[in-house]
Amino acid sequence: MRIRFTAAKVPLKRYNARMVKPNLMGFLDEEIAKLKAEGRFTTLRVLEGAQMPVSVIDGKKVVNLTSNNYLDLANHPRLKAAAKAAIDKYGVGTAAVRPIIGTMDIHLELERKLAAFKGTQAALVFQSGFTVNVACCQSLMSDEKDLLISDELNHASIIDGARLAKASRRIYRHKDMEHLREILDSKESAAARRRMIVTDGVFSMDGDVAPLPAIMDLADRYEAFVMVDDAHASGVMGPNGRGTPAHFNLADRVQLQIGTLSKAVAAIGGYVAGSRSLIDYLISTARPFTFSSSHPPSVTATCIAAVDLLMEEPQRIELLWRNARYFKEGLKKAGFDTGVSETPITPVMVGDTAKAKLFSARLFEEGVFALAIVFPIVARGKERLRTIVSSGHTPKDLDFALEKFAKVGRELGLVG
Ligand code: PMP
Repeated sequence: MRIRFTAAKVPLKRYNARMVKPNLMGFLDEEIAKLKAEGRFTTLRVLEGAQMPVSVIDGKKVVNLTSNNYLDLANHPRLKAAAKAAIDKYGVGTAAVRPIIGTMDIHLELERKLAAFKGTQAALVFQSGFTVNVACCQSLMSDEKDLLISDELNHASIIDGARLAKASRRIYRHKDMEHLREILDSKESAAARRRMIVTDGVFSMDGDVAPLPAIMDLADRYEAFVMVDDAHASGVMGPNGRGTPAHFNLADRVQLQIGTLSKAVAAIGGYVAGSRSLIDYLISTARPFTFSSSHPPSVTATCIAAVDLLMEEPQRIELLWRNARYFKEGLKKAGFDTGVSETPITPVMVGDTAKAKLFSARLFEEGVFALAIVFPIVARGKERLRTIVSSGHTPKDLDFALEKFAKVGRELGLVG
């Protein structure tokens, strides 16, 4: 039998060229004007060439204190060679999501390496650090009876993950263990089906470190499991850069260790390391894993080479810390307030949006790039420049940057 499809005979309204068409997207210009008035409009700086400790940005050679290229691996010959070789062997992409046919043997090799690196049974790689955080919150906190408990300064991806989770959410004051205890001790918590505490290992705007030993003690006492986002600690803290759980000797107690492959590893991606059952469960349930395609093999090969380097050359991490200490001390000596930083992320507190932006712009003119971070990324009154040195900065680069910070800081009345 042949089935015939016939279009419904709905008469089309005749197009009238003289009719004034409403500008349906006109709101965008109004929103942009608002963003500009609030100092929140973003323009993009452009790197010409690789991400380096000294880079060419918008046509100007500057000491680059703004990337997360902690270990100066973004342009490393061995990583580039690994990427090129992987293209020759595997092609440029997988053209599939992992659970369909987007898993290559090198994806599994990287996951085995990451699990060994983090000291866990297994690991699972996602497209980015952002997606892995979203995925873990959404998959593990999947019922209204669950309770997700999060530090107030956790990364945006955790906030969005918590929004996508079906669980109730409670936020504790930054690193406030008494507040966390109160939440865990509440009736709501006692009645919850599962409790998950989520914290950044190193907080991305202030560079301070989560009090993991206290968090783990509370978690054990109140039968909660813990997810630590070590985006800024992987490759940076602990032996060989294994992260904050290893730094505190807690790698066998933290249930979910999250890392990125986009900062110290300098490629792209995120991963979660934990038990075999955690990874098996996520393979079957994590939505970004199921519905978004896998990494090109060149990315995976780059990451494998980077993890090998972390194991072989821990001196890179020592150099990073030496540079970070030197730069932080220099800023303090010049009279700047570096907040509560304990890591290579060093804020220079300004406390005013316009001044922070002017500070950044003037430094750029002087040959130093340090980004202004303002509301809503940080609270009003906490506006700052955020600096991140890398292991690749030379003493000359750091001295140059310190001299320019002091000069512009005096100009703006921030230091005497
Ligand atoms: N967590 C933290 C704490 C971060 O700073 C970032 C990156 N800004 C992410 C997660 C997201 O990582 P990625 O860039 O790999 O998506």
